[in-house]
Amino acid sequence: MPPVNMVARTSSNENAHFVLVPLMTQGHIIPMVDMARLLAERGAVVTLVTTPINASRIKITMDIVHLSGLPIRFPELRFPCDVVGLPLGCENLDLITDRSHFHSFFKATSLLREPLLVYLREQQRPPSYVFFDVCTPWAADIARELNIPRMVFHGYLAFSLLCLHNIRQHNLYKQVTSNNEAFNVPGLPQDHQVIQVTKAKAPGIFNSPGWEKFHDEIIEAEMNADGVILNSFHDLESPYVEAYEQALGAKAWAVGPFSLCLKDDDFISKAARGNKASIDEQQCLSWLDTMEIGSVIHASFGSITHMSPAQLIEIGTGLEESGHPFIWVIKKSEMSPEVEQWLKEGFEERVKSRGVVVKGWAPQLMILSHPAVGGFMTHCGWNSVLEAVSIGVQMLTWPHFADQFLNEKLVVDVLKIGITMGIETGMVLVKSDKVEMSVRCLMDQGDGRLERRWRVKELSRMARKAMEGGGSSYENTTLLIEHVLVMQNEKKVLQGNKL
Ligand code: UDP
Repeated sequence: MPPVNMVARTSSNENAHFVLVPLMTQGHIIPMVDMARLLAERGAVVTLVTTPINASRIKITMDIVHLSGLPIRFPELRFPCDVVGLPLGCENLDLITDRSHFHSFFKATSLLREPLLVYLREQQRPPSYVFFDVCTPWAADIARELNIPRMVFHGYLAFSLLCLHNIRQHNLYKQVTSNNEAFNVPGLPQDHQVIQVTKAKAPGIFNSPGWEKFHDEIIEAEMNADGVILNSFHDLESPYVEAYEQALGAKAWAVGPFSLCLKDDDFISKAARGNKASIDEQQCLSWLDTMEIGSVIHASFGSITHMSPAQLIEIGTGLEESGHPFIWVIKKSEMSPEVEQWLKEGFEERVKSRGVVVKGWAPQLMILSHPAVGGFMTHCGWNSVLEAVSIGVQMLTWPHFADQFLNEKLVVDVLKIGITMGIETGMVLVKSDKVEMSVRCLMDQGDGRLERRWRVKELSRMARKAMEGGGSSYENTTLLIEHVLVMQNEKKVLQGNKL
């Protein structure tokens, strides 16, 4: 690998053509769109695969990209709901309301393989590299077919990936007698904290009955990829990145936080990120302007976590009782008649001077970026955590599934930039007094709050530095593009020798 200062910056980068294949869910599409922007801003050509419904959600972003002349293409492949028996239009994981449709959704996703291959073969500029989502392992085959290299984009952080990798390697899932038996994660970097988990809290990726084949495909694709793309940065977790690289025997490229591809004053892009917002962004900003700095808590649980009506009512009551100003996001799919009625029966009236309820999609990045926001009640999806870190907002952690409990460990135990709600499983009803007490604990003045805020602000500063010229993520991106160009040239030479 050439030293950083010898790396070609942009002129030849247009010869690199990246193909990005996300799983069709906002937590995977959003970071891939951001990554596409980062690569295109450096001169590389990017193809980001989408489908008609998903494209309609990111239309404003696509328009902004086209207007700015960034070389990103968004081929809209037909999502074959009809072929697998999915209701028409179910093109995103958050549109699946019946759990029995999950398998069909992943089957439909894998059927994008052929049309994508046809599309790529028709392109004037041949692809040079495939970045496939960990949940689209079939896209690794496309790279094989096109005889180009591929890397896996996990959407997890190195800390969680390392824990899961080591648990699997040591066969610990098979050794425990129950899902709730606690064990220490082996093989973590020396002098680093002991991390204790249970199988329930660190289940692995699709490591559950009925998903064995898909799980094996994911692991096979990961182990045979040329490297891993991480939405993370050096100063956040370098010992874990290095240990993960060693464990995997491949390079892990920490090139994030991707959300920082959007400039501080680019409100339009921030407001449109991931979907059209369900509130008037200007009104939301004006309301935040009236609040004291650091006084508002933002409560949101990502794009696919589903809360019951009873749980939503407990959360609302807890937020109200806490006395702190808040923005609370309830997903469209959670807006049952029961919840609607409860909100209208007095809640909205009682909290109107200090609470905003978003019914649908919230412009999360825009909200978190406002100085009035001083806390984030989060389900610990990695994008949400990293957005809070990048902006410098302390967290109240309420994980539900997947990597979220491990992300909580990093936030609370390792980085000490948040406090935990102490949730053991996503299945139990959390009462309003617990919500109230936890919000108070996070937001009320006190030493703990000052220390957490100082730490997270410091990490935010480091995150920004990482993404600026000369910063670790910026230079890793330079090296990544250079790596692609070198591999491309080597391939040409090989082909030339064969002729
Ligand atoms: N998000 C948003 N508005 C919402 C809900 C989610 O902008 O109302 C964004 C959030 O900023 C993040 C992504 O959607 O970028 C969710 O990803 P995350 O990994 O946090 O959680 P997931 O949805 O995958 O569980």
